[in-house]
Amino acid sequence: MTVTATLPASTVYDLGPARSLSCRECGHQIPLAAEFACPECFGPLEIAYEFGTVTREQIEAGPKSIWRYACLLPVPSDVTRHPNTDPGMTRLLRADRLGAELGLRNLWLKDDTGNPTHSFKDRVVAVALAAARELGFSVLACPSTGNLANAVAAAAARAGWRSVVLVPSSLEQAKILMTAVYDTTLIAVNGTYDDVNRLATELAAEEEDWAFVNVNVRPYYAEGSKTLGYEVAEQLGWRLPEQIVIPVASGSQLTKVDKAFTEFGDLGLVESTPYRIFGAQASGCSPVSRAFAEGHDVVRPVRPDTIARSLAIGNPADGPYVLDSVRRTGGAVTDVSDAEVVEGIRLLARTEGVFAETAGGVTVACTRKLLAEGRLDPDADTVLLITGDGLKTLDAVADHVGPTATVDISTAAVREALRG
Ligand SMILES: *Cc1c(COP(=O)(O)O)cnc(C)c1O
Ligand SMILES: [Zn+2]
Repeated sequence: MTVTATLPASTVYDLGPARSLSCRECGHQIPLAAEFACPECFGPLEIAYEFGTVTREQIEAGPKSIWRYACLLPVPSDVTRHPNTDPGMTRLLRADRLGAELGLRNLWLKDDTGNPTHSFKDRVVAVALAAARELGFSVLACPSTGNLANAVAAAAARAGWRSVVLVPSSLEQAKILMTAVYDTTLIAVNGTYDDVNRLATELAAEEEDWAFVNVNVRPYYAEGSKTLGYEVAEQLGWRLPEQIVIPVASGSQLTKVDKAFTEFGDLGLVESTPYRIFGAQASGCSPVSRAFAEGHDVVRPVRPDTIARSLAIGNPADGPYVLDSVRRTGGAVTDVSDAEVVEGIRLLARTEGVFAETAGGVTVACTRKLLAEGRLDPDADTVLLITGDGLKTLDAVADHVGPTATVDISTAAVREALRG
């Protein structure tokens, strides 16, 4: 899409405090538009802001959704005037029983299964849709490993937009159904997510009126993940946690939670206390964990093979920035086997009554491993991000759990089963 690039961006679009797009690599600035790569060096573009004064009281008086932070996001000031899915303000739970099992004395879960389509992706899509509307689009599209497809299809349906969703044809049945039910245009591609992503990038160049949430409007989309960090800090009573464990696919979420904590400190909304960020991957797709272990700055792509499909991005766009965040804050990245992922899902369910999808199993299992390696401090305030609902990946546990017994209709039979 071509925009009037000669005018200052702020006079063209109302995108709240967003002022320009800035290259993460070379710092080159361009006006706000549906662009994602720097025209000078092809580095990723990020939103640059000019924030006004923001107070705790002002945020607390806002809606019980991510829109309470609208003044910190690249969205129009009247964002809530249009129908949207209103994600966010999900539960922050004390997790004493899981903490006792793991050996963490101050543990919380940020339970993002409670979002409208049951994953954290509703946050990023809501921001992308609001920005895309202002930028003049009316079709919402994405390549997806599943959860994004659910979120795009639902958000577009509620907004009355057309949506086009591209997924690998190997995707879990539940995620296909949870997308198709919204009457989206769903294209199953015979290839990996990375193949689908490349295809979407080509399509984004051809289909000028399609907003691919994680391609041509990616700088806006990515900012939606900041709301996870904002909410954690607000729900802890306006302070930062000391440690946070975050699952890594493209790595966008992890880097934006880091950005959110820094912004809250800079704006004086919390004290700028030190925090350490930890990344969690499945061993079957662990390019960032491998780079961390080997001390590299670049992330070598891999071909994913794991049950944690929502994290199965072999060539993560924000991989190097994850390494930056983790190394700068004194954290780490690690990875766990698929068997450990299943154990993680079951441990979380058994101790806290929270049923997470495979990404949650990755986070819990990596937390256990990071503790065993002495990388996590057992006494520090620790938050785990539980980013998706177990109903999306029933296959992962189907062979591991089931009825304790199947009996005839008699109390004796039940008692017999209880003894067994
Ligand atoms: C997409 C996704 C992630 C990771 O997001 P990135 O920002 O791409 O790293 C984590 N958990 C779930 C459930 C997801 O769907
Ligand atoms: Zn650049």
